[in-house]
Amino acid sequence: MQTKFIFVTGGVMSGLGKGVVSSSISKLLQLSNQKVSCVKIDPYLNYDAGTMNPIAHGEVFVTEDGGECDMDMGNYERFLNQNIPKSHNITTAQIYSTVIDAERKGEYLGACVQIIPHVTDEIKNRIRTIAKDEQLDILIVECGGTVGDIESLPFLEALRQIRVEDGQNNVIFVHVTLAPSLDVVGEQKTKPTQHSVQELRRIGIQPDLLCVRCSSELQEKTKKKISMFTNVTTNDVLSCHDVKSIFMVPQILFEQGLVDVIFKKFEKVGYIDASENWDEWNKIVNSMNPNDNPIKIAMVGKYVTLADSYVSVNHALKHAGASIGKPVEIDWIDSETFNGNIDELQKYNGILVPGGFGTRGSEGIIKTANLAREKNIPYLGICFGFQLAAVSFARNACNLSNANSTEIDDKTEYPIIDLLPEQDNVTDMGGSLRLGANEIKIKDDTNAQKIYQTEIISKRHRHRYEFNTKYLDQFSKNGMIFSGDSDNGRRMEILEIPSHKFFMGVQYHPEFNSRPGHPENTFKAFINAAAEN
Ligand code: GLN
Repeated sequence: MQTKFIFVTGGVMSGLGKGVVSSSISKLLQLSNQKVSCVKIDPYLNYDAGTMNPIAHGEVFVTEDGGECDMDMGNYERFLNQNIPKSHNITTAQIYSTVIDAERKGEYLGACVQIIPHVTDEIKNRIRTIAKDEQLDILIVECGGTVGDIESLPFLEALRQIRVEDGQNNVIFVHVTLAPSLDVVGEQKTKPTQHSVQELRRIGIQPDLLCVRCSSELQEKTKKKISMFTNVTTNDVLSCHDVKSIFMVPQILFEQGLVDVIFKKFEKVGYIDASENWDEWNKIVNSMNPNDNPIKIAMVGKYVTLADSYVSVNHALKHAGASIGKPVEIDWIDSETFNGNIDELQKYNGILVPGGFGTRGSEGIIKTANLAREKNIPYLGICFGFQLAAVSFARNACNLSNANSTEIDDKTEYPIIDLLPEQDNVTDMGGSLRLGANEIKIKDDTNAQKIYQTEIISKRHRHRYEFNTKYLDQFSKNGMIFSGDSDNGRRMEILEIPSHKFFMGVQYHPEFNSRPGHPENTFKAFINAAAEN
């Protein structure tokens, strides 16, 4: 069986939405009953996204198998409603370390090791292995960065070689560019697209399709002009204009005949028309933009200057809102400057504290958790938000003043949150947290049990610290219970205050399991409680 490939490249500038285009194409093909998956190439030198600052690069998305990945992987999972393994996020560091390791072992038998063919072979090998192991009909590979970047060159060269090896009818190149207009009624400019396609052709890649980002629909005359200068037929120049929600992009591409174009190029016959499965997806997309009074959520954290820092949390809240026909409005509160003023919080239906690291902003979060508890405002704490809710409870309800997490104060008298024992000797920061999906046992007669309706759940993790079980009794005596645990009761995973309207903390990251039309249970319960508040 021959897997077909669609390679998505980007031009002009970053942030054009290559990830959304790749996800949308894969969704359309999935709706046409093709077995598809996506790969993200990140040409940077980090081994993975785990060590990168979320304010600069957006959230670190955690896969089931414990990969710390680029946030586009989250888009793929949400669009396809399918788990994507960490092997699908390829970086320069991964490729080079494999090549260098092989060289040190003498596997190249005396050859001079070079970018072409050794590095490019390793890139091709990874892509082909995924296609073969997963028996895919079509694999969509998105190459991060912008054409012309030095870092991307070996990857683009490898993709070019795959086309030569597999033939035109098995490989399609889609190039995402921009047609800016300088004012609202202004002409759509084609020069950036022309230049970026020239750059691509200079390295031997003629794109088959262009997805042109623009604020309003691409005009016919613009398409014609782009076509003339880029050697792409007008039909294959697609408008990727702004829409209300990213989940509407498959629809606008479908209406421009993208599915037919792809299957024709692939010379595939007998494919299923997407329309049968289309309805279900459209129902989900329409439900995602409810027209009602919004539920207002305060998100209190450190990485508030970039909405993408918590992109999966934002989505998960919206999936949950959609399930009860309500939009969710999120306001960001910087935990570093939050001084405990209740007026700032009381106007919200619910408070969410997402994951985080380090000392900066932690006192603001501890105050937030305490106010939510005292004023009976629905609270959901995720990972760091779970840990600091416990610290706040220790200080304010258990009389353990100055209690803390040893991540913040390693000399604290009451180490409520402490390093995972297996982390004691860890020195490397990259890839060394507790990562990926683990099973959690839910206790009977708890809110968690009501929420999940099952005894065992599996959720994704990313942390180095955990609740110190020495304090379990003291907590339960004062009204906070732990309703989920893992590793035979050794690790606490869920906390709740039964007497509260809704007060929950989870050590795992439920946001990574939430999908459009399939909201994650804890988010759903939190949003339900917020809607009633
Ligand atoms: N910093 C905390 C830990 O490492 C929480 C991590 C997180 O929120 N993802 O345990």
